[in-house]
Amino acid sequence: MSKFWSPFVKDLVPYVPGEQPKLTRLVKLNTNENPYGPSPKALEAMRAQLDDGLRLYPDPSGDQLRQAVADFYQVPSSHVFVGNGSDEVLAHAFHGLFQHGRPLLFPDISYSFYPVYCGLYGIPFEPIALDESFQIRIEDYDRPNGGIIFPNPNAPTGCLLPLEAIERLLQAHPDSVVLVDEAYIDFGGQTAVALVQRYPNLLVTQTLSKSRSLAGLRVGLAIGQPELIEALERIKNSFNSYPLDRVAIAGAAAAFADREYFQQTCTRVIESRELLVERMQALGFEVLPSAANFIFARHPQRDAAALAGALREQGIIVRHFKQPRIAQFLRITIGAPEQNQALLDALGSILSA
Ligand code: PMP
Repeated sequence: MSKFWSPFVKDLVPYVPGEQPKLTRLVKLNTNENPYGPSPKALEAMRAQLDDGLRLYPDPSGDQLRQAVADFYQVPSSHVFVGNGSDEVLAHAFHGLFQHGRPLLFPDISYSFYPVYCGLYGIPFEPIALDESFQIRIEDYDRPNGGIIFPNPNAPTGCLLPLEAIERLLQAHPDSVVLVDEAYIDFGGQTAVALVQRYPNLLVTQTLSKSRSLAGLRVGLAIGQPELIEALERIKNSFNSYPLDRVAIAGAAAAFADREYFQQTCTRVIESRELLVERMQALGFEVLPSAANFIFARHPQRDAAALAGALREQGIIVRHFKQPRIAQFLRITIGAPEQNQALLDALGSILSA
């Protein structure tokens, strides 16, 4: 706290990101990165920018990337917005698309950045409890609101809401923006992008940090009708005229174009997840059904914080949350097969000790 801070900054409670340890020997299963690297074609496109592009400013609207996303999803490029990680895209959406007179609704267990953005932009909010099996129950959202947002699959639970439920929500709230945060959609979920043409109140956000393995590049996107996309553009242009650098635009566009690599790596992650779920269950864990690149699991007889601590002593980091309802769960990123095996071996020895 400093006398130079404005009252606004004094009251701001920032988001606390997952740990990014400096040690590289760790088996890092705590922030849902992809164990396989980015597409070799993306790396090649980025190297070409390093050799011959950085003297010049980037394209302020990132058209090459918008077009690559539009081609992938078969939507017009006027329906696509790109930004510096989906965190930034979400920030612009909170700033520009949610109303202030009524509360924004989101699940009480979901991405912990949402209340932070509400604080940043002065948006009232009302968390809606998940049901007893940790699922989103859309009828509970039938109340006055200034917008609705949820991750699909949800984070940190990994549970998926079917498209029919999302469609019912869009129909029930035609005057509210419904933002579906699809950070983890490519690991077995069905994207809501197909609904964008029919519902002007739908905005879908995605990231290249997970299924395209470019967390370090910081690229995210939104897809919606131009009415919504133009609001995001207005905010972005009032904030930073170059939201993406040349390396990011070229690399992300090439990653979107390389469908084969994308599909192969997603399939490998999904197969590893199914195997890990089976093995964790054999060790006595209860695992929530996951459509993400992580699982959410608890052991009926073991304290989750103690398990996370014991894993850490063996060089394996997983995520543990303090919120009472989920304090007995561990969120574990799906790693490469040898990392998942190291996790299982460590858990086996901890549980039998
Ligand atoms: N939404 C959800 C649900 C997430 O878990 C994350 C990753 N922490 C993000 C958005 C942000 O991803 P990024 O900024 O890396 O695109």
